Amino acid sequence: MKNLARAHWAAAALAIVVAAPCVAAPSRAVIVDIENASAQQVEAWRHAPGVESWVELGREMLLVGDTARIAQATGLGLAMRDIGAYRIDDLVLHLRGCAVDVTPDDLLVHTGGRYDLLVRPDAARLATLTHAEAEGLDEWIDVTPGMVVARQYRFDRPVALPADERITPLVARVDPARWFSDVETLAGWSRSTFSTELVSARQWIAARFASLGLEVSEPAFTFTYQGTRTANNVMGVVRGLQRPDDWVIVGGHYDSRQQDIMNPANAPGADDNASGCSAVLELARLFTRARPAATMIFMCYAGEEQNLFGSKAHVQALTAAGDLGKVKLVATLDMIGWSSSTNLSADLDTLSPFVATRNRFADAALTYVPGLTPVVSTIACCSDHIPYAQAGIPAVLSIHGNWQSYVHYHRTTDTPANLGVHAQSIGGAIMRMNVATVAGEAGPMDRIFDAGLETGE
Ligand SMILES: [Zn+2]
Repeated sequence: MKNLARAHWAAAALAIVVAAPCVAAPSRAVIVDIENASAQQVEAWRHAPGVESWVELGREMLLVGDTARIAQATGLGLAMRDIGAYRIDDLVLHLRGCAVDVTPDDLLVHTGGRYDLLVRPDAARLATLTHAEAEGLDEWIDVTPGMVVARQYRFDRPVALPADERITPLVARVDPARWFSDVETLAGWSRSTFSTELVSARQWIAARFASLGLEVSEPAFTFTYQGTRTANNVMGVVRGLQRPDDWVIVGGHYDSRQQDIMNPANAPGADDNASGCSAVLELARLFTRARPAATMIFMCYAGEEQNLFGSKAHVQALTAAGDLGKVKLVATLDMIGWSSSTNLSADLDTLSPFVATRNRFADAALTYVPGLTPVVSTIACCSDHIPYAQAGIPAVLSIHGNWQSYVHYHRTTDTPANLGVHAQSIGGAIMRMNVATVAGEAGPMDRIFDAGLETGE
């Protein structure tokens, strides 16, 4: 959560104050929807007459410049959404879902995807920020010309790679209905870190792992959050038949929160993150039956909402045991249960050293889940992949697209019913992408075409 480079916004804000404006026609900033654009169109719009600078934001693009000229040159016209008279360095970026969610309303100029665009506060406004707002400044990112914050993967991979016949049958066995029933079970407990019901959820997850034949443990860890606290991860291990010292981790947090993070009650967390923890259970069910070549570790973490404490504890334990180097891949699932429409999309985030690994997930989507549109980014924050990635382990987060539009996020209304009619479609799609990618690392499977996998449901 706190991994982002400290933005040098304060110095830049001062520079703006002292620099005299020298451009006759004021620059304006516009947002263009590029969800259905071609790569060629996006490239042409970036360099259209009148464009001073551009920033790619996944399903949207920010253009700054002489907007009348841009409109004329591109024919975009009303498709350009004017957000104000800004130059590029007037703006900063904040990733939604980071540790601090207090963004001053008067500074917010655009909300799109996971990314809020804010106008830099001047010295006078800085002085009046509340303490909570000022805490969020650490997470602001400078907006620079030509920045690709997130990108639709299809632009760079217009043709999918061929499918692997050893992986297709496993992908086909993902059961979204079964997954949704687990989401309902978990959402039946208020899984706040401060709720006694979290223990019930933990015991249920452990029992599910045990019923699948996994080696189960519930390692405790302590952390500081308004006092010293203890919580438990739930871990299930299946030993690899051929490469036991190659480890693949599949994880997602099982704790939850409501708006008031200290209130233990009414935190059903269906999307965040019963959906991801239930996906861990579903992948555990599939992979234990298939008997993978590599060792697989299935993790449901606690303490995520207070700052990734469960995954940090796991990384510390791996490091202390000298096992970190065995971990070849970490697949993190957080918020996979909601879609605004039948257009299914997934954001795939990692840190920049692990772009190739991240792209394996995106390739898996194109090959095995053609209905799922991957959007890739290296501006990563906010979930349990971060501690692993920061420790040098390839770790990739899957999260559904457009999640800023899920109005129940961190609310008492994050219930299974409010996941809506597309829940099983998006959850199923994101699980299939993860199954295909993880199978590529943990395979080959011993029983993929075996009758045991076919009939042992
Ligand atoms: Zn979460």
